[in-house]
Amino acid sequence: MKSINRRKFLSLSALAGASAVVPQMIGSKSATASPIDDAEKTIVTRQLGKTGMEIPILSMGVMRADNPAVVRAAYNSGLTHFDTAHGYQRGKNEEMLGVFFKDKDRSTFTIATKGKANLRSDNFEQEYEELLNTSLRRLQMDYVDIFYAHAIENTGIVNDPRLVKMLTKFKAEGKIKHIGFSTHANKPAQIDEAIAAGIYEVCLVSYNFKLNILPELDAAIQRGVDAGMGFVAMKSMVGGVADAKAKSKVNGAACLRWVWQNPNITTAIPGFTSFDLLDNCLEAAHSPKLGESDAKYLAALKERELLYCQNCGNCVKQCSKHLPVPDIMRAYMYNYGYNYPSLSKDTLVELAVASNACSGCTKCTVTHCSSGFNVADKIAAITPIVDVPSHFLA
Ligand code: SF4
Ligand code: SF4
Repeated sequence: MKSINRRKFLSLSALAGASAVVPQMIGSKSATASPIDDAEKTIVTRQLGKTGMEIPILSMGVMRADNPAVVRAAYNSGLTHFDTAHGYQRGKNEEMLGVFFKDKDRSTFTIATKGKANLRSDNFEQEYEELLNTSLRRLQMDYVDIFYAHAIENTGIVNDPRLVKMLTKFKAEGKIKHIGFSTHANKPAQIDEAIAAGIYEVCLVSYNFKLNILPELDAAIQRGVDAGMGFVAMKSMVGGVADAKAKSKVNGAACLRWVWQNPNITTAIPGFTSFDLLDNCLEAAHSPKLGESDAKYLAALKERELLYCQNCGNCVKQCSKHLPVPDIMRAYMYNYGYNYPSLSKDTLVELAVASNACSGCTKCTVTHCSSGFNVADKIAAITPIVDVPSHFLA
């Protein structure tokens, strides 16, 4: 474990021509409040499995960010790893990163992107290759450091021979440096399958203080680490809000400090979109030890209903229509927690969820949800979004 400070990082940035960036240029935020004032503060770095990548414990989930000035502030604050996906902002997220990093020294940052593998398609191989090539074009890069097979939620997929073959091919061609997969559900089993598949170097996994399968997940992560895999945490802020009605923001710094207690988690990728959120995350990264007040805060939060779905799958068996309730709950969180309606709609459209998904069901048979949700109410509140024309949605 090492640490990096902004001064050291700016010297790298200077090589990339980023030294011309001065605090006053960073959006409208005052120079005194800018995260880049913390010149002497350091951020601990950790090794990412056996990839050879050593990255700060805080990375940027670029997902919802549409302001390149926030990316610039993160970069100039010492963050080196940036996470996007083929589908984020329908490609604009990758395009923004491409423009931002175009003139930066490639050794000063690493990029991860993700692509969903549609194994149901007869043309899967051709489509997956085109997806990656499109991402590289948007990013204006010859390669990405990590390519994740995106959002794998069921067992039997990470080790699908067609997926394994394509990911191996991408790596052999030099288009991706390291192979990964991302998952929200069935995590322990999927990690074991990935270990057995033998090609996966990184797992992007939802990991937070709310998880009710922590012992099993931690054990699986340990098995992955023992096998040489690196782990990156997502959904660390449980949807970003501290109550079920999304009236108040979660204390992100406390959530991150909790995640970093596990030395097997190399980095977390909170999706900050503003300078304030970046500041909050940097505050945690500069002082990463979980304090007593953090622990107390999280213990109280753990008892509350939030927007985060455990992805336990119990509801699917209870639902008379076998709706993909966990995914619908994630779409609900994207809209009401992240304020990201386009991703919410895209998630539902991809799953072919109808706007009136529960119609004809007189009484909801989902009576026990591990997160305490009234799933029928939430489904009714989110599925109509599929009928909203995309150009109205941010
Ligand atoms: S109301 Fe909706 S969630 Fe509940 S059982 Fe019917 S279809 Fe499933
Ligand atoms: S039972 Fe509740 S927590 Fe579990 S997957 Fe379904 S909605 Fe999520």
